[in-house]
Amino acid sequence: MSANPGGMNCSEFQARLPKLIGSGENLAHHPHLQGCELCRALLADLETIAQAARSLFPIAEPSTKVWQNIESAIKDEASGSSGHR
Ligand SMILES: [Zn+2]
Repeated sequence: MSANPGGMNCSEFQARLPKLIGSGENLAHHPHLQGCELCRALLADLETIAQAARSLFPIAEPSTKVWQNIESAIKDEASGSSGHR
């Protein structure tokens, strides 16, 4: 329990993880990850989740089609609100 890779313990490292990921730093070279298998596995899990999220919500999705759908839905709502429901 005395091992302290990278000068910080796991909870300290994990608390900084979102910031480290957000900074675009190459975490593979982080001193804590060099010495801590636990956090390496954690990071691998996070990357798997991030990749799955990207494939679920592809950024390349053409947004014009989405907006057209929203627009027509609003128009339907507006034209239908004064009449029947
Ligand atoms: Zn760790």
